[in-house]
Amino acid sequence: MHEAILTAKNLTKQYGSFTALDNVDLTVNKGDIFGIIGRNGAGKTTLLKILSGLTECTDGEYSIFSKTGEDLRRQRRRIGCLVEEPAFFRNMTARENLKYYCLQKGITDLSQIDKVLETVGLTDTGKKKFKDFSLGMQQRLGIAFALLDSPDLVMLDEPINGIDPIGASDLRDTFFRLNRERDVTLIISSHILSELYAVANRFLIIDKGKVIKDLTKDELDQECSMCTVLRTDNSAKASTVLEDILGISDYEITSDTEIRITQQNIDTMLITKTFVEQGIGVGAVFESGLSLEDYFKKLLSAV
Ligand code: ATP
Repeated sequence: MHEAILTAKNLTKQYGSFTALDNVDLTVNKGDIFGIIGRNGAGKTTLLKILSGLTECTDGEYSIFSKTGEDLRRQRRRIGCLVEEPAFFRNMTARENLKYYCLQKGITDLSQIDKVLETVGLTDTGKKKFKDFSLGMQQRLGIAFALLDSPDLVMLDEPINGIDPIGASDLRDTFFRLNRERDVTLIISSHILSELYAVANRFLIIDKGKVIKDLTKDELDQECSMCTVLRTDNSAKASTVLEDILGISDYEITSDTEIRITQQNIDTMLITKTFVEQGIGVGAVFESGLSLEDYFKKLLSAV
């Protein structure tokens, strides 16, 4: 049985007459690496800003650690966030910047600074000042900031943005370690599905402020999995033959002339032969799968 660490119902955010978030429901379970995916302007930051307490929702409600309102405010120390960039001092080192935020947050155990710097791979930055950091290093320092005070839940808005492929892979390892070794639940947003696929076990796909899909990694794999595409001159008749003669029921009619069979290990020769015998014109039979980005595009084009 999954233990919900965060639940939200009908979260809505209006900016004047513009609806940035529209009745969003979500549940994040303890131990999840929960990916929020959406293209630019989809509402990812707005959602994370609400959940991290930076802004109020116009409508709807949410609870974290089963707490709301004032009770939740007292639990906020258990949540690490990188939603809006913390203002780092340009002339200070990584360590000095984190020390400043420890003091701000009332964290007295300064040994944490070295631990979080090590976690994000910034141990060796020594005297280098923030102004001389690469974009990737700046992002890492932001993540280190979110990890101060050993949070149980961490929310990161586009943490992999601007980081090169090797850096991104290192960061993913960091997320896995936090999740598996320290039992940290993570919520991570991105506009690139394949980027999150490599790390998340659950996915919330949003567009124009609305939830388009909420699915597990297994479900996502299934949605993108191989299928057999049948192009014929009559999908309706072909579907009857599939079911009544060939006993195939796992399929989807995608157009008047196209059917996609998701059942695996089917005999395509037998299908073609039977269709021809039944007077169905066969244009093409081939195997196809969807890449993650194609799947994402397909979902968004259906909105
Ligand atoms: P991106 O990937 O570009 O960061 P996003 O998915 O994080 O996008 P949001 O930043 O949440 O999207 O914005 C969602 C929508 O709300 C956008 O159309 C944005 O212009 C609008 N929006 C965000 N903040 C405000 C604000 N303070 N006032 C008015 N509109 C806003």
